Amino acid sequence: MNNFCHTCGHEIIVKSLYKPKTYCSSDCRDYMKFKNALEKVLIALRPTIEAKKIIRGDMFRLSNSVSNCTNTFEEK
Ligand SMILES: [Zn+2]
Repeated sequence: MNNFCHTCGHEIIVKSLYKPKTYCSSDCRDYMKFKNALEKVLIALRPTIEAKKIIRGDMFRLSNSVSNCTNTFEEK
């Protein structure tokens, strides 16, 4: 039985029934780790209005850095 990576959605070929994988790669594992850490920090920050605009701009630029190269043959 196979499962799907919690970050990129690609299928993970399960090699061991005892240790199912949640992520297909260290990049996908790192993404989730850093995303959760960043979310925790963002909630704790109390920026000024100007600083908040800059942070939101940073988040927008980050979202645009997601690769446009998707595995389209799995798309439905
Ligand atoms: Zn993945």
